[in-house]
Amino acid sequence: MKKYFVTSALPYANGDIHIGHLVEYIQTDIWVRLQKMRGNKVVYVCADDAHGTPIMLKAERENLTPEELINLMHIRHKEDFASFHIEFDNYYTTHSKENEILSSKVYFHLKDAGLIEKKIIEQFFDEEKKMFLPDRYIIGICPKCNSPDQYGDSCEKCGATYSPTDLIRPKSALTGNTPIKKRTSHYFFKLSSQRCFDFLNNYVNSTDTLQEEARNKIKEWLKKDEQGLSLLADWDISRDSPYFGFKIPDDENKYFYVWLDAPIGYYASLMNWCTSQKKDVNEYIGKETDVELVHFIGKDILYFHALFWPAMLHFSNYRTPSAIYAHGFLTINGKKMSKSRGTFITARAYLEKNIGAEFLRYYFASKLNGSMEDLDMNMSEFVHKVNGDLVGKFINIQSRCSGFLLKYFDGDVLSRDVIVNMNSFNSDLEEKIERVAEHIKDAYNKRNTSKAVKEIMGLVDQVNNFIQENKPWETSKNIANISVEEMNALHCVLSLAIRCFGKLSILLKPIIPATCDKIERELFCQGNEFLWEDIYELKIDKIKKTSHLINRISEKDVASLVEGCK
Ligand SMILES: [Zn+2]
Repeated sequence: MKKYFVTSALPYANGDIHIGHLVEYIQTDIWVRLQKMRGNKVVYVCADDAHGTPIMLKAERENLTPEELINLMHIRHKEDFASFHIEFDNYYTTHSKENEILSSKVYFHLKDAGLIEKKIIEQFFDEEKKMFLPDRYIIGICPKCNSPDQYGDSCEKCGATYSPTDLIRPKSALTGNTPIKKRTSHYFFKLSSQRCFDFLNNYVNSTDTLQEEARNKIKEWLKKDEQGLSLLADWDISRDSPYFGFKIPDDENKYFYVWLDAPIGYYASLMNWCTSQKKDVNEYIGKETDVELVHFIGKDILYFHALFWPAMLHFSNYRTPSAIYAHGFLTINGKKMSKSRGTFITARAYLEKNIGAEFLRYYFASKLNGSMEDLDMNMSEFVHKVNGDLVGKFINIQSRCSGFLLKYFDGDVLSRDVIVNMNSFNSDLEEKIERVAEHIKDAYNKRNTSKAVKEIMGLVDQVNNFIQENKPWETSKNIANISVEEMNALHCVLSLAIRCFGKLSILLKPIIPATCDKIERELFCQGNEFLWEDIYELKIDKIKKTSHLINRISEKDVASLVEGCK
């Protein structure tokens, strides 16, 4: 048995969850469900990322306090995740007592380790708003390619990165005024130190923490200059007032930058869960723990998770992540999600069209391969895949067999032994499913869900072929006149097919948990949930009539989804 502490990246508390976000939560949830089904111990936590300038400004625009805004968003996020069957063990917020305590602990540890430095820097200041402007709140002309309207940190046209004071004709995005330069003192985490460099170099190279492509990316960041000095810049962990966040404990007027307390929020959420479960948090985050820490993230925040975060943890005496799994971005019909193209689809907008939440889970699973590649949601492929695979093939097995089983055999399902003994068709379908299940488990483990789906659908096809070859509908047409042997053979065919259906539903359960749960409870009348092991020892002796399991999706609904978001 393995033990895991798993996280998905924290959604920012200034807007609704959209389907681009859902790629990650669905990917993580599938992985977590698989581990739990296998009997591994997993605690899966997440939280709202509730601090920072954008939240402060959004609350101001909406005449709310930041606390009111983040509380509202917290409720909406929780509802959205529940609708898509994302089953966190704890969903918390970074604006919590636990996080405040942990953040200052980490800060003091780093300070004691000599890795915090106070420096005077020059930053843009909006005199009307009386605030220092973060990079994204300064707009100007790119110093490299002269494109207008570029942000203060990087140019969207030529990809150059620079500091905001390099921008030509800078303007405050808040007031349109030309900002002034003002001196201010900030706290820096000395990422450029030799100690950090050595630790990170070792961390990145000595473990299988990272995907190969991520490791290569990190290695680029870990290069040294001609003098042998680290190219990593020190990391500014402080912000000036006004700011919505945690005060730096030994300074009057400074706050922790949101990216300092956000990942600590994983630990704070875990801590909150531990309190509710009466567990000792040190069993999970202490240096000697046997619990593996697994982060699922988008490739855009690799820098924070694979550099800043492990260094922060290491030098404040906590355990470092065992694995960081990055995924790519979602494109829709081959293009970036965009409001003007109507492809910026929120979780809510999707659900309002009554398209099953599990269909999106299935579709994403069929596309994700465990790499950092982007994945494309092609709307017509989505419709065809869901209708074809889930309705046309998977559920088709049940709809072709359960009616006859109920009508002629009172729902009794023959056991595997009886089927083998009576077997006149010599099928080893169950063994085949068991053999392939090993590969499927492996693919799930590696987050290669597209491979898992492909293998499962291959088995689904074989079961459908078996039914097709044995044509139970032909025998039953003539049911009054058939011999006892023929009746037994029919019972065998139907029993075997429905047993295979049970096994297939276990294989699909991490992806479409609600439907498989219904199959267990209603069709198989199970009191206990099926686990992965049940594939090998499936105990089904009876089926009952179920309510409708899955509806087809209509192309019209999916088209209106994209239309409706314009
Ligand atoms: Zn440029």
